[in-house]
Amino acid sequence: MQGATLVTKLTSDHKTIVPLSDLVSIGGAEIVIIGGPCTVESLSQMETVARTLKSAPIQALRGGVYKPRTSPYAFQGMGSEGLEILASVRQRYDLPVVTEVMAISQIEEIAAAADMLQVGSRNMQNFDLLKALGQAKKPILLKRGLAATIEEFVMAAEYIVSHGNSQVVLCERGIRSFDAYTRNVLDLGAVAALRQITHLPILVDPSHAAGKRELIADLSRAAIACGADGLIVECHPDPEQSVSDARQALCLADMVALVRSLKPIAEAVGRKLYGTELALSTPRNSEEIA
Ligand code: PEP
Ligand code: MN
Repeated sequence: MQGATLVTKLTSDHKTIVPLSDLVSIGGAEIVIIGGPCTVESLSQMETVARTLKSAPIQALRGGVYKPRTSPYAFQGMGSEGLEILASVRQRYDLPVVTEVMAISQIEEIAAAADMLQVGSRNMQNFDLLKALGQAKKPILLKRGLAATIEEFVMAAEYIVSHGNSQVVLCERGIRSFDAYTRNVLDLGAVAALRQITHLPILVDPSHAAGKRELIADLSRAAIACGADGLIVECHPDPEQSVSDARQALCLADMVALVRSLKPIAEAVGRKLYGTELALSTPRNSEEIA
């Protein structure tokens, strides 16, 4: 890939591992599942999610407090108050938290409260933001732009790494296409390609790709089978009442069932879920078979 040097894979087993906490890292043998609502709505909402999903187990919580909404009249997120909720749930349930940063002015405040800063699709090519995140001391979850090519996506990661932060995780979240039946089209071809191109870990967000909750479990299993290092999935204690992205939110019982259903898929590709043993002798990829 022309111009991308720092994020480019040098050997077939070259892989960056991005730690989220003392216990959880993205890019190793274990698949990482991040779950939570699109938007942080209240302390009790986040506590219910954390309490119910901790033993699923999920490894990190998500929840937006600064929300990029299509309409300026839609709820824009709880802001600092939402960050306080995340900080409190993070501590009480010992779960790392991931939340979106939309502006340079928010970096310091979010980095103080969260374990990972998400760059949303709409900001993937906000180059000033990417450069500033190069100076942040927290891992970055970089989501693919709504209509970004694989090359543009990789180069966006190169911006962050070349400005000083090597802790970058890529996230495929679906791209725009002609068919509105699904909200976006989950590009698993990009996941396969990115695994060849870059040593950075790759997550898949089936929620924003599908836009429909009944499609999410199948896409999640396909993503793990295809070599993703984990998933970020939207779920809510009362999905129909979600203030944003209600149609794609899983209920918490379905989220637990989804996590459990991933075990045989992970093992089939030489990975494991947190809290389970690695099935020995399962090759991880064709290079190891050779
Ligand atoms: C989100 O994670 O809630 C979100 C807004 O995602 P994306 O930037 O992928 O649309
Ligand atoms: Mn969302």
